[in-house]
Amino acid sequence: MTTNPKYIFVTGGVSSSLGKGIIAASLAKLLQAQGYRATIQKLDPYINIDPGTLNPYEHGECYVTDDGAETDLDLGHYERFLNVPTSQANNVTTGRIYQSVINKERRGEFLGKTVQVIPHITDEIKRRIQILGNSGEYDIVITEIGGTVGDIESLPYIEAVRQLEWDLGEHNTCVIHLTLVPFLSAAGELKTKPTQHSVKTLMESGVQADILVCRTEHKLNDSIKTKLARFCNVKKEAVIESIDASTIYDVPNLMLEEGLDKVVLNQLQLKNVVPDLKRWNEFLDRLNHPKSEVTIGLIGKYVELQDSYKSILESFIHAGAENEVKVNVEPIHSEYLSENNIEFKFGHLDGVLVAPGFGERGIEGKIDAVRFVRENNIPFLGICLGMQMAVIEYARNVLNLKDANSVEMDERTPNPVINLMESQKGVVNKGGTMRLGTWDCNLEKDSIAYKVYNSETITERHRHRFEFNNDYKAQFEDAGMKATGHNPETGLVEIVEIPKNDWFVGVQYHPEYKSTVKNPHPLFVAFVAAALKYKNKRKKK
Ligand code: GLN
Repeated sequence: MTTNPKYIFVTGGVSSSLGKGIIAASLAKLLQAQGYRATIQKLDPYINIDPGTLNPYEHGECYVTDDGAETDLDLGHYERFLNVPTSQANNVTTGRIYQSVINKERRGEFLGKTVQVIPHITDEIKRRIQILGNSGEYDIVITEIGGTVGDIESLPYIEAVRQLEWDLGEHNTCVIHLTLVPFLSAAGELKTKPTQHSVKTLMESGVQADILVCRTEHKLNDSIKTKLARFCNVKKEAVIESIDASTIYDVPNLMLEEGLDKVVLNQLQLKNVVPDLKRWNEFLDRLNHPKSEVTIGLIGKYVELQDSYKSILESFIHAGAENEVKVNVEPIHSEYLSENNIEFKFGHLDGVLVAPGFGERGIEGKIDAVRFVRENNIPFLGICLGMQMAVIEYARNVLNLKDANSVEMDERTPNPVINLMESQKGVVNKGGTMRLGTWDCNLEKDSIAYKVYNSETITERHRHRFEFNNDYKAQFEDAGMKATGHNPETGLVEIVEIPKNDWFVGVQYHPEYKSTVKNPHPLFVAFVAAALKYKNKRKKK
């Protein structure tokens, strides 16, 4: 469509957590709905090579791409909104930038030169920004710069943006500055000063914002918009209000009403047509008009944090809309679960999901949860560690191997029903060394999985070191827990089911990473349907 790719930069001012990722994803959605091939990239100014080694308390969920990148959770939003897979190139950190520059230096590629932030680090940032554009796959690349302008660590990124604006020339770039317009209740007024200051900070680095997206709890009236335009050097139509929305999925329509796509395309001298949001709006319609509701317990150890299980929560939103069911997800902390309180905490649940995770904390609660759910025939979905817990529970309480465990929790367990993967033995580095990314899985014909996916082979994303121990497979199968999905090459068990129960599925992979608005994940869709069926059956009793 376009001959050369166009670049949109999204910077943040005044405060963190304003939702740059959602604004970037919403804009990309509007551009995609007008026929443009858009992608989004996130630049993170921290020193970690990737967020894979970060605790969810620090950074929320770690998202995984098809090609096995461990990334910022914003990439999940990009995929959910656009239904286009992201890759290694879509998330770059300062650590990675420095790592490539230092590797080059060691190879002697700068021989004789002093290696410096400018130009070497900024050149590497510019190269990374343009990888997606130069691939020929996209008309528009939206680059979201993490952090807030004025942070010491974002300076090289802002400088790279400044240089790229010059390198690429007029109408090929656009800078969107996301800012906060706070409401001072004592004065009864919205305040523009913080925005003026952050635009000024950006200008000190030589970058002029073209568009302001203003997060606000109250509508921006005409005079506020005029004032912001005048003091921040932007056109009045380029002052975009971003009022708090009840769901992130409303934001594309809100941005459309405000004309964000129009100003962006104008600036880039690209054609602006009416976006085709038919599918998107059908989804919203189903989301907003549920015919029934279910309550699903999410058992994990980071449940107090919204962002820790982001993709799981979003998958329930997609699957709920697909079923026209409102899914209330009830977070339940596995650390405080025991046989004594489980009935009280689970009595009203229509389904239970045991979450992924690492390490020992809270796992006994997860095992107790699986036992209750299995014995009471409550629909169950176990993801990664959740699946492993289902296997351990079955070993202890059905196979009667009371000391069964995962080698992750007890290296010397006499019954390692969950074992370290062969490929992981001898791995010492923690970063980027797990079994990551997409793997094939063959499904057994007579299984829930086969019915749900309606396919013999599926591909799903992984992030783990441990696996079902095939030495115990025959014992499990004889006792009623079946392996219904296998990796075709290694024979690794990827799915377990208990056919005697109505809906009991554990998966070693992460279905939540692949659920999008356009393609809600079939496993979540079927799980929500099973929860609804269970609820209705219970009502009749
Ligand atoms: N800790 C487990 C493993 O490494 C499960 C990982 C996960 O839940 N993502 O195998």
